[in-house]
Amino acid sequence: MHIYDAVFLEDLCPKFKIRQWRKSIHKFTGKSCIYCGKPSESIDHVLPRSQGGLSTTENCVPACLSCNGDKSDENAFYWYRRQKFYDPRRAMAIRAWLEGDLRLAIRLLQWANPNFQINNKNHEKDESAYKAA
Ligand SMILES: [Zn+2]
Repeated sequence: MHIYDAVFLEDLCPKFKIRQWRKSIHKFTGKSCIYCGKPSESIDHVLPRSQGGLSTTENCVPACLSCNGDKSDENAFYWYRRQKFYDPRRAMAIRAWLEGDLRLAIRLLQWANPNFQINNKNHEKDESAYKAA
């Protein structure tokens, strides 16, 4: 799973580049798991590599070790729907992420979790809307 993915990625690119890329993925969600919101410790392939999933930003989401290990090679959406922490807004966020619309994905994650913190001034407007609601 993620351990093998790391080896695979490092075969393709210099280690430094991979580290920067991984960091940027975690940064998008404020280092929280896209599935459950706990601290993200790994990168999960939404479409598993065993099913042809690529190691691209669109297919790689921040995930905690628990979600990453539990999901394993299952389809992310089927797996996620069965979880106790399932949230349709997060499911939508994962879908937006897959489509490469990270802005929308981040917005949906913020909606799912109002405590979601991200250092981006552009999101201030959205945050004040939550407080008013
Ligand atoms: Zn998780």
